[in-house]
Amino acid sequence: MALLAVFLGIIPGIFWLWFFYRKDKYNPEPKRLIALVFFAGVLSVIPTFILEELFNAFIAPMELATGKVTDWRDTLQIFVVFFFGVGPIEEFSKYLAVRISIYRNRNFDEPVDGVIYAVAAALGFATLENILYILSAADVKGMLFIFILRFFLSTLAHIYFSAMWGYGLGRKKFKRGKAMVLKGLILASFLHGLFNFLLTWNIYAAILVLPLMVIMGRLTGARIKDLLMLSPYRPIIRAKVHCPHCQKLAQPKDYNLICNICGKRIPFKADMEVYCPRCKTKIDTETVLCPNFECRMHIGPPGLTTAQAAMKLQNMGVLMEPPSKKKKKKPATA
Ligand SMILES: [Zn+2]
Ligand SMILES: [Zn+2]
Repeated sequence: MALLAVFLGIIPGIFWLWFFYRKDKYNPEPKRLIALVFFAGVLSVIPTFILEELFNAFIAPMELATGKVTDWRDTLQIFVVFFFGVGPIEEFSKYLAVRISIYRNRNFDEPVDGVIYAVAAALGFATLENILYILSAADVKGMLFIFILRFFLSTLAHIYFSAMWGYGLGRKKFKRGKAMVLKGLILASFLHGLFNFLLTWNIYAAILVLPLMVIMGRLTGARIKDLLMLSPYRPIIRAKVHCPHCQKLAQPKDYNLICNICGKRIPFKADMEVYCPRCKTKIDTETVLCPNFECRMHIGPPGLTTAQAAMKLQNMGVLMEPPSKKKKKKPATA
């Protein structure tokens, strides 16, 4: 029984870890570091436990009288417990795990790594929770029920919450945003509180968890896409240019400068104005860097000085060559 519980408890974490690890497509993180952060996530239940005990003792009792909340005082209690206790405490603990274990590591070398490591920590945390919950089931049927519920809801939700501050960490490390980590932590805590609150309040509220999952999934997907766009390992960084034919901001696919909107060829000029493909701000051709502080996207491939990149930018008619594959330490198979 116990062995089966542990086995079932581990599966969702492994599956979702594999699923999200694949998103880090330009420069995958070493598997041993993913494992390290996963275990840091397991250990983050320790600060969680301490902080929840303090919350329990000084702010509000954590113990819920019943699952079915009818009285307004009960509703208020679960509201306070989830929005001000469990949500912020668990998110902060997982955040600490990533901040301490990996944030300064040189392998944290792309903005998207913030989300990837946040997911690993979230899954370490969720896996321990999964095992404990499945162990508490009365029989095998109960175990399978909890397994399925936690596979698609709680485990995935932990990923979504943590992706919010993971996004901030990824932006912060590469100086591409202000106060993003705090914003991310607040959003993650709010979503975490809301998720738990809806599930506990009543059956009608619990149904709202499904659209919440869809919204959080979309938010997470958009954040991953956004961070991947900022990756210095992107094979081709394409700038936007004004198309004189259709008057739109086009993003030609290759050196032929064919407008992707009207299909006509854009005449190349050496002093052509180019725009950031991400935020559409005019690129400074001296630095080949987007001047928007929230973005700071390099339009040149990494490994070139900005002057070289600027020259390339002109010689090649806006478009860049794929960056030379950087010699990387082969990730250890873990
Ligand atoms: Zn056009
Ligand atoms: Zn930009």
